[in-house]
Amino acid sequence: MFELISQIIGHGTKELNITLPLSSEAALGAYYDYLAQRSKLFNLTAITEPEDVARLHFLDSIALLGAISLENERVIDVGCGAGFPGLVLKIVRPGIDLTLLDATGKKIKFLSEISEILQVDVNCIHARAEEVSRERDKREVFDVAVSRAVAELRVLSELCLPFVKVGGLMVAMKSVNSDEEIKNAEPAMTTLGAKLESIYDYKIPETDIAHRAVLIRKTSKTPDTYPRRFARIQNFPL
Ligand code: SAH
Repeated sequence: MFELISQIIGHGTKELNITLPLSSEAALGAYYDYLAQRSKLFNLTAITEPEDVARLHFLDSIALLGAISLENERVIDVGCGAGFPGLVLKIVRPGIDLTLLDATGKKIKFLSEISEILQVDVNCIHARAEEVSRERDKREVFDVAVSRAVAELRVLSELCLPFVKVGGLMVAMKSVNSDEEIKNAEPAMTTLGAKLESIYDYKIPETDIAHRAVLIRKTSKTPDTYPRRFARIQNFPL
């Protein structure tokens, strides 16, 4: 199992032209083991086969480094679930200061446990994004907010951008069929003090799956009226 994961990660990162620290393959192997074990008890992720976790979770997360090179930035993963992409990024780029945020207590508990096992220092928060981004020590303090598979981009912008400092980036992981979704979200970006910077399409190595990172630059402060309550964010997207 462990060898299989290592092999896929080794080939995949070569194809992506991304170098990993030596320790990261063992850490990803241990992450897989614990994820597979805990997934039997409660719903952590729909994907549990080792090949699939290695490609669709680990390599997909690592591929983000092609869009944005991370070193020592302060990063928040909004709606991180079982840790994708955030915890994988922390394993392969240990210099980042990572906050993992999710509204589901069981997922955050899993993340506290696995980060303890892997001895990685991360900040785990069990809260709703639209509530916690109103706290002074979380608002507009992050260099980067990343998010995968959480919400439509108009909604996601309101969940993520309040965390990002002016000059920082929001990075949304989307499918390549998101042109219209992105276009529809441009007014939301403007209202929240940001603008579309670039779109980075990539293929997950050893699959035919194409994914996309949407980079949104924060250019001015988000007005205090945002984020609104979740019902409003969802029912009346910007
Ligand atoms: N990013 C992970 C998980 C995606 S599932 C991955 O790609 O595998 C979506 C996650 O977002 C769930 O774990 C859910 O609890 C969380 N979520 C949804 N809305 C949220 C909100 N408003 N604040 C915080 N977390 C939220």
